[in-house]
Amino acid sequence: MTMRFVTALTLAAAASVSLLACSGSAPATQYSQKLVIIGFDGMDPDLVRQYIDAGKLPTFKKLTEQGGLYPLTTTHSPESPTAWASFATGVNAGKHNIYDFLVRDTNTYFPDLGMVTRVPPTFLFNYIPTSKPQILSTRGGTSFWVTAGEAGVRSSILTVPVTFPPEDVRNGELLSGLPLPDIRGTMGTFSFYATDLSRYEEGSTEMGGILRRLVMDGDVARTELVGPPNPVVRQQLAALRAKGGTPSDADRKSIAELEAQSDVRLPLTIRWNRSAKSAVVEIDGESIPLEVGKTSRWIDLEFRINFLIRVHGMAQMLLMNADNELQLYISPVNWKPDNPPVPISHPDSFAGDLFEDIGYYRTLGWAEATWPLNEERMNEQQFMDDLQRAFDDRAQVILSRIDARQWDVLVGVIESTDRVQHMMWRLIDPKHPMYDAVLAQKYGDSIERIYRRADTFIAEVLEHLEPGTQLMIVSDHGFHSWRRAVNLNTWLVQEGYMVIQGQQPGEKKLEDLFGGSGEFWENVDWSRTRAYAMGLGQVYFNLQGREAKGIVSPGAEAKQLADELSARLLTMVDPTDGSRIIRSVYKRDDVYSGEFIGNAAELQVGMEDGYRVSWQTTLGGSPQGIVYDNMKKWSGDHGGYDFATTAGVLITNRRVNSQTPNIMDIAPTVLKFFGLPIPSYFDGKPLW
Ligand SMILES: [Zn+2]
Repeated sequence: MTMRFVTALTLAAAASVSLLACSGSAPATQYSQKLVIIGFDGMDPDLVRQYIDAGKLPTFKKLTEQGGLYPLTTTHSPESPTAWASFATGVNAGKHNIYDFLVRDTNTYFPDLGMVTRVPPTFLFNYIPTSKPQILSTRGGTSFWVTAGEAGVRSSILTVPVTFPPEDVRNGELLSGLPLPDIRGTMGTFSFYATDLSRYEEGSTEMGGILRRLVMDGDVARTELVGPPNPVVRQQLAALRAKGGTPSDADRKSIAELEAQSDVRLPLTIRWNRSAKSAVVEIDGESIPLEVGKTSRWIDLEFRINFLIRVHGMAQMLLMNADNELQLYISPVNWKPDNPPVPISHPDSFAGDLFEDIGYYRTLGWAEATWPLNEERMNEQQFMDDLQRAFDDRAQVILSRIDARQWDVLVGVIESTDRVQHMMWRLIDPKHPMYDAVLAQKYGDSIERIYRRADTFIAEVLEHLEPGTQLMIVSDHGFHSWRRAVNLNTWLVQEGYMVIQGQQPGEKKLEDLFGGSGEFWENVDWSRTRAYAMGLGQVYFNLQGREAKGIVSPGAEAKQLADELSARLLTMVDPTDGSRIIRSVYKRDDVYSGEFIGNAAELQVGMEDGYRVSWQTTLGGSPQGIVYDNMKKWSGDHGGYDFATTAGVLITNRRVNSQTPNIMDIAPTVLKFFGLPIPSYFDGKPLW
């Protein structure tokens, strides 16, 4: 998706710039008071309370006694992008524009990743780069670290979600978090190679994997690692497709040839040592010996677009089996911290300086290996080993910047708490269809282990801080069991709000979204469709003047539809036992206000514990059946649940003035802490 242009010119200009020189010329006032905020994504207040009571979280307990433990009211929808954007800006989503992971194009109805818009690079003669790729944030509002920085407060902002692309922070340093992608521009595409894969299993998985069958020639297999999309080829393809009409035979041939080269690939050779049960992988001029079960070091990878352009990445390998079958896993290719395609930090050099200080660290925003476990290409042990390392990576970054002492306020977020709950909730919920007593025996304490790791990390943080430093521990939302999946669009079809015609389309894959060639909504008759669902519980109206084929007129008709549809949604029950599925339905104007309200869904559904919209619904699909068992390992969730039952947590070493703090209260609290005025448009209130 994005390229770094290594031309003679940019190489000459790429002299390294020192951190100080780049951190802005605004005078940094020496503030004597210091504030540290550590975020644990998805940390659930009920689990924290339960583990504290069981004596498992001694540091949290001590802090709670000094200050307090509070549920922290979250956003509509209770999900990370929305909630962390409200955390940073002190406003509701109507003022910051981040409602979900996904947004839709009102012309085509196609889903796209939210949070950023991407402008591809351009090339002269399909060769010489003439413009750089650009990634622009769609988030509105102003982060508290930007406001505080203008007033001279020095900040260190580390892997907070919704900080990519990095903001220009005066008197501050910022290392981007989510949605910082991998080299394919996705939230993490892993590669899996195996001798025991069938031809039918090859290709892309539903969620973010590339599977390749290994064919051995003696003990050697030759295959390839799929790297970034080739922007030159994409430009050529776009030009050919833009011609319109029926393509000539020559054009058709060119399109087919170009499609085959639309990704940059690196040849990969695997040499299997059957007697030693090991293997050697050769890639990009390196030879990497692998033992079963041991994750390799980070391997630098260079993808050559053409003579002028290369993209730098890094990946780790894990040989999973070299006994009767050969199975090799390659992590998503992370951007190199010292040579990313576009800046991933502020100042630009910060990510590279950090790399010099502490060595390799994950840059991918979604740092944990949830997708391979969900696709059953990784087991629980491998997932947990990787997750612990992901936690350690983030923890190491935070501790090293605490020690650098160049901040008045430091914010660091670790998301491993969220990922472990997504994947392992089934093993603490005996009612979950994927509960497995044998696995629960072995891995039932996985979530607790990561909460305990969070507790020991906070103990470490406290050791590194000067006495008297104010500390806040914050999570953006809580968690629920996800036992049953709900096809909201199928329900809309059944109830007559959406009309489909012709064949049931195939299942939607994430690759359809990222690959840019997917079909969506192909069987929807928009001329008779009044509402459609996308993302985590958003229901949009097919509105005249907004959607390309809108039929619902804004005003009275839309209002009547909102009343009728929300009442109907609340009557949805699970046919197996009559349980209520939807706890609340929130109408747009009741929960959002601000300049971006026009991008909000008309209705936000709030599910009951146990129910989440299906994966197919998130991408707009409407497969058969309305409610069915969730048979995936991704078994805990929060997005699309009722915000009222999905609060996050706030733990501080200083009492706050509210029993019902809200995540929007953090930004004004920080500004007040430094004696700064609180903007009148803020929705949050200071807690001190
Ligand atoms: Zn989250």
